[in-house]
Order: sequence, then C-alpha cells, then structure tokens
Amino acid sequence: MAQLDRRTFLAGAAVVAFDPATSHWLTSFPENTGAIQIPHLDGELVTDDAALTEAATDYGHLAHRRPRAVLRPGSVYDVVTVVRFANEHGLTIAVRGQGHSTFGQAQADCGVVIDSRTLATIREVTLDHAVVDAGVQWLDLIRTALTAGAAPPVSTDYLGLSVGGTLSVGGIGGASQHFGMLVDNTIELDVVTGDGRLVTCSADHEPELFEAVLGGLGQFAVIVRAAVRLVAAPAMARIYTLTYPRVTDLTAAQRTALADGRFDYLEGQLVPTDDDGFTFVLEGGAWFTTEPPDDDVLLAGLAPSGVDVVDMTYFEWLNRIYEEVEQIEALRLPGPWLNVFVPDSATDELVTELLTTLTPADAGGVALLYPTNRSPITQPQVRVPDGPVFFLLALLRAVSPPDDAAVERLIADNDALYARVRAVGGTHYPVNALHLSPADWRAHYGDRWPAVRRAKDRYDPRQVLTPGQGIFGEVGGALRTP
Ligand SMILES: Cc1cc2nc3c(=O)[nH]c(=O)nc-3n(C[C@H](O)[C@H](O)[C@H](O)COP(=O)(O)OP(=O)(O)OC[C@H]3O[C@@H](n4cnc5c(N)ncnc54)[C@H](O)[C@@H]3O)c2cc1C
Repeated sequence: MAQLDRRTFLAGAAVVAFDPATSHWLTSFPENTGAIQIPHLDGELVTDDAALTEAATDYGHLAHRRPRAVLRPGSVYDVVTVVRFANEHGLTIAVRGQGHSTFGQAQADCGVVIDSRTLATIREVTLDHAVVDAGVQWLDLIRTALTAGAAPPVSTDYLGLSVGGTLSVGGIGGASQHFGMLVDNTIELDVVTGDGRLVTCSADHEPELFEAVLGGLGQFAVIVRAAVRLVAAPAMARIYTLTYPRVTDLTAAQRTALADGRFDYLEGQLVPTDDDGFTFVLEGGAWFTTEPPDDDVLLAGLAPSGVDVVDMTYFEWLNRIYEEVEQIEALRLPGPWLNVFVPDSATDELVTELLTTLTPADAGGVALLYPTNRSPITQPQVRVPDGPVFFLLALLRAVSPPDDAAVERLIADNDALYARVRAVGGTHYPVNALHLSPADWRAHYGDRWPAVRRAKDRYDPRQVLTPGQGIFGEVGGALRTP
C-alpha cells in the first residue's frame, strides 16, 4: 500500500499565492510584496464563497467557523504539501469527510479545510480485506465488497459517512458486541502526520502512530488510505423488532440477548408514542444465506409485549436508513446530538431518571439505547467505560422548526447529562454538541492522557491539525455566525 500513485484529479489550482502578513490566499501572484507562491498541486485550493460556506457547516448546523481556503486534493501528495505549508506558515488544518459531526469538529477557523471527497477511490477488494482512500463512503465500499461476497464485520447504522471520518471517531454498530468498532477492524493506514510525513502504519509497523490515529479525532495525522477487514457476507437478514412497555424490560431483554450472543446485530430504541411518551424496542438481527434462523430459539426468554419479524437482503438491511437521513439532512435542522457510553450497572437508574423529563420533542429524531461488550473494543483512543458491558445512549436530536432558545436549552441539557454520565464512570462518543474544555478532554482520556499528549508532541508538534475538537486548546472563532 505504500506505493501511492500521483494522479491529476482536477483542474489547476485557483489559489496561487499566500500572503503571510494577512494570512490570506491569493488568486494572483503580486510581485515584490512578500507573497509566497504555493507549490504545485494535483488538485485545487479554492477560496470561493460556496466552498468556504460549506466547510463552515456540518450535520448539526450549530457551529460555523469559516476557513480561508478549501483543499480538494488530487492526490495524497497534495495533503503532504498543504500540511507542510501549514507548518511553515502557522496555519491550522481540518479534514472534512462527509461533515457529519454536529458541533464544528471538522472545521478550521481561518485555516484550511481538506475536503476528502476527492480522495475516494476503492483500490482493492478481496474476500478478507479492502484498501480504500479515506474519502470513500462506507456505502460505496459495501456495495463493491458485496459483489465479491464480502462485507465489513461491523457497520454504522448510516453508511453515508467517510472511512477516514469514521475511523477518526470509532464506528460503532449493532455487530460491535461481537466485532468491536470499525477501528478494531482496521489493518493498516497511510497517514500524513501533522508535521507533514507520509507514513504507513499498522499494529506491527509504527504501532504508536497507528494507535494514536484510530479514534484519534484527527489530532495526529490525516488518514489518506485505509486497509480494512472484510468477512464473508450473508445473503439475508432476519430482523426482530420486539416491543417493551418499560425501559427496564428492554434493557433486561437486551442483557439476556447480549449474554449468549444470539443475535448477529443487537440495538434498541426509545420510540415516541401518540400520548407523548415512549415505547421501548429491541432490534435484533440474524444473518442467513440458505437456512433461516429458528425464531423460537432467538426469542426464548426475551418476553416482549409485541413481536415483528421481517426478512430482507443483507444490503437492504445495512442501507436501511440512508434515504431517511438524506431527507432529514436536506431540512438543515439544528442537531444538538448527544452520544454517551454508560456502564451497565448505572444504565437502568440513569435512563429511568432521564425519562422523567425527556419528551419525544426533545429527543428529536431518534433515541438509541443498546448494550455492547467491551472485550472486542481494543483501540485505546476510543474511550469506553470499564466493566464487561456498557450501553450506548444516543439522543440524535433534530430541532424542528429551528429555534435558537430550544437549541441552547438542549445543548445545556447535553452538558448536564454528560456530567451525570461522567459521575457514574461513563464517557462520551465524540460526535456531539457538548461544551468541552481542554480539562474535560484530559478527564475524558484519563490514564491515557500522557500518551495522547506525547503523540501530539511527536506527530503534530505545531498543533496544526483539527482545532475544532478543542482538545489541546479552546476552539477559536465564533460558534454561531450567520
Ligand atoms: C445520520 C448519522 C448516523 C450516524 N450513525 C453512526 C453509527 O451508527 N455509528 C457511529 O459510530 N457513528 C455514527 N455517526 C457518527 C459518525 O460516525 C461520525 O460523525 C463520523 O465522524 C462522521 O464521518 P464524516 O465522514 O462525516 O466525518 P467528519 O464529520 O467530516 O469528521 C469527523 C472528525 O474526523 C476528522 N476527520 C475526518 N476525516 C479525516 C481523515 N481522513 N483523517 C483524519 N481526520 C479526519 C474531522 O476533522 C473531524 O474532527 C452517525 C452520524 C450521522 C450524521
């Protein structure tokens, strides 16, 4: 994988020079002004309003920090060039995959955003692995892999996410109980470190860099290419939707199903009811190719009040929410999301307490609640609670119609709920609309913090990469500018 071919992707660069006195990018090169000509790029560096506005927006529509330029790389060498240029001239850089963060995590105030959508080639697919550029969406990888009879062992619920963006946060799904997160199923990465070195890393080669980057929130290197594990794909999915009247009935059934691993996929939701409350749903999936699973065996001991069973192709299942998400995204609603990991022992009390105040309107779009096993989750940058089992609680809120006061209130609710989760040994899954200071991040990393600090100093010593996470310093720039 180390041999990366240089290729011309797009027309010549719109930006030709940089003025270090004003930190502005110029589309013409003025002689004798101190302006610096930028090196050759295979892709393009642009400063047009549409590109800057898009790079200052994400799925949450809450943070709008505007870069001064957007790189559409035509090759990984463009990433190297621009990262080195940023080091020389004190600029910041963030990679934007599909921009599905909710609070400006992929933004760079007055810096450069690298739009990874132009690095989106699927290089190789075999029965046990795929090699893809970081800008490839999981949907495209899965479509291609399925034609070879393979698929990733675990998938996110929504497939319109970039490989690089997902490997930067973790990548959890209903199969994580068996296979861990997407980061746990990554074989090798090509990355451009924060100081501009193109390095291939894996568990055996440059392991410190590999560990730092997986779930590393873009802090240490730009992922430009990934080799990810594939397994034999089933043809069909049988999906069981089991309903429960109380949340503790749901979690009890989920624990039973998790303990013997009977489902290939296990999730759950808080589903709004007509009377402004919730009903509680276990979602179990069993994969098959010829012989359908035995319903009685799969449902034994789960005691639901309602059962629905449907069969569909495995691809239909994996891609089940894509269109719905595209429709929601088109509405551009504020999305003050909160995803937290709660220790098993604290989940029932915490969720029961939450449900005394949570309304379907405040839960917004979708509320997920499901347990997973900790043992297959091995990458240390992804912070999960101690103990053999923890629950994901995800309030995937969408504020409709948009309302600034409601948004502020819900972000404050997120801050309060996260504080409560932290107090019982829980963590956050870092795609949220949460106020996090550098001290909060140090607490988030806990005993991992010295390794995180060391990796930053080693791989991104000038702190060029990904300021929007606010881990090593407060995030600069206005949060909500028109
Ligand atoms: C509808 C929806 C459903 C979701 N479902 C799930 C789910 O089931 N499971 C789950 O785990 N997550 C889920 N997520 C969260 C999602 O995994 C993260 O938000 C992920 O970061 C999004 O990928 P992206 O390509 O949009 O990344 P972006 O939002 O563009 O980037 C995320 C972070 O990674 C950095 N980054 C991006 N690309 C790179 C790169 N190549 N190298 C280094 N850093 C990079 C960015 O700078 C930013 O800090 C969901 C999100 C949405 C909107």
